[in-house]
Amino acid sequence: MAVEIIMPKLGVDMQEGEIIEWKKQEGDVVNEGDVILEMMSDKTSMELEAEDSGVLLKIVRGNGEVVPVTEVIGYIGAEGEVVGESAAPAAAQVTQATADLKAAGLEVPSTPAAAAQAPKADLAANEYDMIVVGGGPAGYYAAIKGAQLGGKVAIVEKSEFGGTCLNVGCIPTKTYLKNAEILDGIKHAAGRGINLASTNYTIDMDKTVDFKNTVVKTLTGGVQGLLKANKVTIFNGLGQVNPDKTVTIGSETIKGRSVILATGSKVSRINIPGIESKLVLTSDDILDLREMPKSLAVMGGGVVGIELGLVWASYGVDVTVIEMADRIIPAMDKEVSLELQKILAKKGMKIKTSVGVSEIVEANNQLTLKLNNGEEVVAEKALLSIGRVPQMNGLENLNLEMDRNRIKVNEYQETSIPGIYAPGDVNGTKMLAHAAYRMGEVAAENAMKGNHRKANLEFTPAAVYTHPEVAMVGLTEEQAREQYGNILIGKNSFTGNGRAIASNEAQGFVKVIADAKYHEILGVHIIGPAAAEMINEAATIMENELTVDELLLSIHGHPTFSEVMYEAFADVLGEAIHNPPKRK
Ligand SMILES: Cc1cc2nc3c(=O)[nH]c(=O)nc-3n(C[C@H](O)[C@H](O)[C@H](O)COP(=O)(O)OP(=O)(O)OC[C@H]3O[C@@H](n4cnc5c(N)ncnc54)[C@H](O)[C@@H]3O)c2cc1C
Repeated sequence: MAVEIIMPKLGVDMQEGEIIEWKKQEGDVVNEGDVILEMMSDKTSMELEAEDSGVLLKIVRGNGEVVPVTEVIGYIGAEGEVVGESAAPAAAQVTQATADLKAAGLEVPSTPAAAAQAPKADLAANEYDMIVVGGGPAGYYAAIKGAQLGGKVAIVEKSEFGGTCLNVGCIPTKTYLKNAEILDGIKHAAGRGINLASTNYTIDMDKTVDFKNTVVKTLTGGVQGLLKANKVTIFNGLGQVNPDKTVTIGSETIKGRSVILATGSKVSRINIPGIESKLVLTSDDILDLREMPKSLAVMGGGVVGIELGLVWASYGVDVTVIEMADRIIPAMDKEVSLELQKILAKKGMKIKTSVGVSEIVEANNQLTLKLNNGEEVVAEKALLSIGRVPQMNGLENLNLEMDRNRIKVNEYQETSIPGIYAPGDVNGTKMLAHAAYRMGEVAAENAMKGNHRKANLEFTPAAVYTHPEVAMVGLTEEQAREQYGNILIGKNSFTGNGRAIASNEAQGFVKVIADAKYHEILGVHIIGPAAAEMINEAATIMENELTVDELLLSIHGHPTFSEVMYEAFADVLGEAIHNPPKRK
């Protein structure tokens, strides 16, 4: 069936757009993502890309025409298909609905079958519209979404609700990183005229662990409360999942119309001699450590290794990070990564890059890590933080199609077995809690209403909660240069920001990467105070495809850290007030 091309609405104020030039002609083959025309919104010129593949069947509005938003301007369909003149007004109504759905990130169900899958009320006691296996971010989001959509939902959890994130991930690490921030604050007190009786301190490891456990309990209890409030039936135990969508928990078997596999991930291990030593800890173990080691070797300088390394370095532990790549957290923009490395080194962390551990020798209650460049690192404890792998326990019977060791899913989060979905860490697309939330929500919607919603994770922000924080969304400078060639970069530093200076936080910068032609924002990278909070603004900007020019119409409050981001946007165009003039 022919698909309409509509005049897009690119901002709240946009009422109409001008077609400058069609780049494809009637009869041309069009692939999804091809530029089909150049147009002018109320603010800027831009290229419109095809959302479907096929043949450009008909151009309804020609070059130079000014067209109200959401009105049909053309059709794409199968070769030889005829689009009737009379179809236009009816189609325009559909277009409006389509535009509304698309604005909400949704897609119109393409088949009547999708709409026909409404939840059934005629289910036996052990039958459910949806069974969710795993109660982490992906799982509990999916379960609650399923219940909100009117489904009879069950959730199975073998351990604690909240999964990795709440129990041994996001929340415990951030609780400890707050301790590191408090200790930094103590160092600044005297310079601000706050004279403490003494700046000496000791760390009560029992109390730090107990406090962390209280935080975790508050949140995991909240998740269970939400599940119960939404009338989700809870099963405690390992769920063994079968291809017929039955799930066995101990002696009980339940059946689902659909199943959501949200089993998450576990620590990845390497096979080197000595790795089995009890002095080698995983991130799960170190969070419950009640004795302070004198020294800690961190194997892997990714986010987890760097965050946990900093916690212990701030407690006075001699921390050495060993990273195979040429810099820490290599997924980050290089400039930001190197800046962070410099700051962490100043805080006393030793960082060795471009080197791996080939052997670990335990003797006299300490470890010697032999590196593949001949060096040795001696430490009381080591942290293994080289990444995570999907958790497949209970899924063995499914014989699912895999992509390396991850469950392969399509854009609807569905696995190779129709009606079985796998959102979150288990599919390895983006191993972050907020990405898992979105994937879980999307999977549940598709399970309940037929496949119609895609999880777009392109503008998922990522953060490292060091002090200062680091955060990013979109492309790094290296990626943008590779993909776009001609790019613009804007930067502004926290060293001149009023709030940062007043807070003893005047270090770091914001870097904005934009496309040179349309000033489309390709990436935002922050190292500085509140970076993890600020990046959400950048993600919203990018999700809504605002250009640098449009963003500069906004007003940012003063004094705020995010003025630095505004100035970095202005610097893309050489218009930052607080930067020296750019040389022409
Ligand atoms: C140290 C650390 C720090 C992190 N910090 C952050 C951060 O700051 N921000 C961020 O976004 N992400 C962070 N992450 C990543 C984040 O924790 C994960 O991306 C997120 O938890 C993934 O959610 P999930 O629901 O897919 O899986 P998980 O959270 O792993 O949950 C899976 C759940 O399924 C259960 N389960 C597994 N198999 C079965 C079965 N067969 N039957 C019943 N139950 C089963 C498990 O017990 C678990 O509760 C961190 C991770 C770690 C390790």
